[in-house]
Amino acid sequence: MSRKSKPGPTQVETSFRVVPGLYVVGSLERGVTIYSQQVRAHNLAWALWEIHRSKKRRVGKIAVVGGGIAGLTMAACLLSLFEKEENVAITLFEQSWDLCPLQQGADVRWVHPQIYNWPRQGSRAPSASLPVLDWSEGRASDVARTVLREFEKFYSAFARRDGLMSIYLGLQHFQIDERELEISWIAHNTSRADEFFQLARPEGSSAKFDTIILAAGFGTETRLAGFPTEPYWRNEQLGQPTLDGAQRRFLISGYGDGALVDLCRLTIERFRQDTIVYELFRDELDEVEEYFSKTTFGTGSNRNVFELLQASEGTVLRNAKLRLRDRLRKDTQVTLHLRGRNSTATNFSYIFGSQSSFLHRVITFLLYRCGAFALDFGELDQAVARHQVDQKSVLCRYGANTVEHLGSLFVRPKPVSRRFEKMKVKQAQSPERLWVPGTFPHYSKQ
Ligand SMILES: Cc1cc2nc3c(=O)[nH]c(=O)nc-3n(C[C@H](O)[C@H](O)[C@H](O)COP(=O)(O)OP(=O)(O)OC[C@H]3O[C@@H](n4cnc5c(N)ncnc54)[C@H](O)[C@@H]3O)c2cc1C
Repeated sequence: MSRKSKPGPTQVETSFRVVPGLYVVGSLERGVTIYSQQVRAHNLAWALWEIHRSKKRRVGKIAVVGGGIAGLTMAACLLSLFEKEENVAITLFEQSWDLCPLQQGADVRWVHPQIYNWPRQGSRAPSASLPVLDWSEGRASDVARTVLREFEKFYSAFARRDGLMSIYLGLQHFQIDERELEISWIAHNTSRADEFFQLARPEGSSAKFDTIILAAGFGTETRLAGFPTEPYWRNEQLGQPTLDGAQRRFLISGYGDGALVDLCRLTIERFRQDTIVYELFRDELDEVEEYFSKTTFGTGSNRNVFELLQASEGTVLRNAKLRLRDRLRKDTQVTLHLRGRNSTATNFSYIFGSQSSFLHRVITFLLYRCGAFALDFGELDQAVARHQVDQKSVLCRYGANTVEHLGSLFVRPKPVSRRFEKMKVKQAQSPERLWVPGTFPHYSKQ
């Protein structure tokens, strides 16, 4: 059988392109993780570099919009590649007052580079092993710290030429004209003080760019009036046992990874994302991985895995279920509210499609079999009343309206939003490494 060949730079560039010269990194893809966003940033930087070198298109003045992990990886990749190109300059715009604001200080969230791909081979490897802004599994706050430190090292090593890199923070206004590739903004230019930034006075300005790269993430998570759910990366105490001996009721609405992680935290005693797979499967882990890898239902497949999990319940999942049964939290009563957009979720098996990682689906299935939570498919208000849950204990995990978020960056949101909708359907930005090994110079080799 012939193996599919890797796409070349032009094909990769096209998959990120909104209009000529304007690109978006990953925001419209499904199953986005920190690692996959970084891989996409490497892929796009490599494609732009190859196209620039072959003189098909000069990248010239570049704007990177968003200073989260994807934006920082993008900027660092570009710095290392275009350092010596006289006509290249990079401007990074971050709306917050510091870089990587989401994960900074996020102590209750654990992140791992590839566990999302479990049980694929290598998915438990702790290191991202990326050429630019590398990190290893840990609390999100530690990962953010590592990424920011790495960014500083790339910045110091490669942005020595005057004017090569500028960073604007604290945006008061920001708008892109996609026809002219022109950005207007009010923000603070910065100067570097080691890893930190000093702010200049705010300035209102506009400039034309040759290349604009949107790394502005997904937008604010959808919130419902009356249910003040903390955004995913903010710290809270859901994973801690109550101290007053009381039992508390919670309702989680949603069935993406954000909802299912919180389901685990609220139902499993001493739950830790970094150890759960080892604790559940122990010596059988390799066997379980091999079994699920072999099935056509493995990760990457869009098929619903409910039947597969049912069929595995008495075999490879048997011991894990018994272990889980022994460690259900006694201080919580949890309802999983499944309704979905347009009331699409009408039965439990529906959520075993591709909306979440395979590992989360496995644990959710086992929790269900252990009777760890109640289910409700009704209207949210009614479900909350039925299960007698305090509004503060309702967690709405609905993701964000990303097309609207990206559209809001533009003078004319409509035409670009149509293109964003198409990109959302197409899912063309591969999370696989496509660049040629050795492409990115490392600061230690300078
Ligand atoms: C609910 C939820 C759960 C998740 N769980 C995980 C997980 O467990 N593990 C994992 O690896 N990943 C997870 N992710 C994905 C993870 O959040 C992203 O992969 C990661 O934050 C890096 O993505 P990013 O840099 O593209 O976007 P972001 O981190 O969102 O960064 C975007 C940046 O752009 C800035 N910005 C926004 N608008 C503008 C503007 N107009 N101008 C300038 N700057 C702007 C923002 O302030 C932000 O700094 C989760 C995402 C969500 C929504």
